[in-house]
Amino acid sequence: MTEAWAALVGHHLAEEPELDFDAFLERFPALMDGGLLRRHFSPELLAAPAARAAWVDPDLRPLPAHTSATSPNAPRPTCRLGLGHSGRGLLMHRHSLHEVRAEAFNYVWDNAIPPALEVESGTEVELHVRDAGDEQIGRDSGAEAVGSLDFSHVNPVSGPVFVKDAKAGDVLAVEILELRPGDWGWTAIIPGFGLLAEEFPEPWLRISDVDGDARRVRFAEGVTLPFEPFPGTIGVAKPEPGPHSIVPPSAFGGNLDIKHLRAGTTLFLPVGVEGALFSVGDTHAAMGDGEVCGTAVEAAMDIVVRLSVRRDFSVPAPQYTVAAGELARTEAGPYHVTTGVGPDLMEATRGATRAMIEHLGHIRGLDRQEAYALCSVACDLRIHEVVDAPNWVVGMFLPQAIFDEEGR
Ligand SMILES: [Zn+2]
Repeated sequence: MTEAWAALVGHHLAEEPELDFDAFLERFPALMDGGLLRRHFSPELLAAPAARAAWVDPDLRPLPAHTSATSPNAPRPTCRLGLGHSGRGLLMHRHSLHEVRAEAFNYVWDNAIPPALEVESGTEVELHVRDAGDEQIGRDSGAEAVGSLDFSHVNPVSGPVFVKDAKAGDVLAVEILELRPGDWGWTAIIPGFGLLAEEFPEPWLRISDVDGDARRVRFAEGVTLPFEPFPGTIGVAKPEPGPHSIVPPSAFGGNLDIKHLRAGTTLFLPVGVEGALFSVGDTHAAMGDGEVCGTAVEAAMDIVVRLSVRRDFSVPAPQYTVAAGELARTEAGPYHVTTGVGPDLMEATRGATRAMIEHLGHIRGLDRQEAYALCSVACDLRIHEVVDAPNWVVGMFLPQAIFDEEGR
């Protein structure tokens, strides 16, 4: 459940102060899954008018104006969130959600793949995303499953969705509304893949427990990551014909691995072909900026997005908006930061990562593989400077809050 949903419910509460908890539950059964009610709406909160008023946070307005199809050229959304309507309107809205069937997925970008679904601009679409290992790794798997991965079917993307009226040169606005995980995910060091591939030749695997309700990912004894889900791969078909590898991203999106594409974010993609042919895959339960070992906490999820055509601007490559407060929310705790310094950005990045692996070994007692994987799922890379020639500075940020109290 997303903050947009939360805001929507907040508006209903504000408009109908007489609504009691049972009536509320009856009206919004869909909110029971995903744990939103438990996180945001205790019975006490719903019962106390003063608390309700305080809860209706102006920062949690649904759908900031810039994320909806407001351009005169953009078609009006066919399914609008039912603000000011009764809860029944909201349920009808959910029932009108368009769904891509679970078996519609592909291992390449190819604009000849027939659409799995055709929708009007402004429609909400639900897709069932398989994990990046395409179920080759299970909850009980060991490192040998990583060593024997069949790379001809990894990173499946669900779709494609044909958006009517989308033409090459338009922008497809993808509002990320909701991500619903299962209860586990995996992180692997895959031989030959990752920033420090030559230094980590052996396969390694970690299964994490994912708790979407509590918004926690248990990565290791004493190490708990915030559950911050997003799709690693999200994009539209390229104009060039034929199959294109799913691994590298392009100007049309794809395997972007941008952890900020969380619920509440709007991604703007350049449209390459008629109908855009949108697909999404590779959902992650947690990841640091950089994804240095090559994998995040890889987890299958259901995702809901709203797809709208925009013609009031164009983008040369993906752009996105992050809602107010979202960065601060996940960056509030203390950090330990390592740096790499040198004339090559990739080498400086490796330097910062090696230093963090050393730090995690010395201070936290992690072995090298676990430390490398933790850098990938929890630590954020940042470019500090690219002007003081000939040396550039890259930092790697370790959030201290991921360690249980005893370990800090
Ligand atoms: Zn992934």
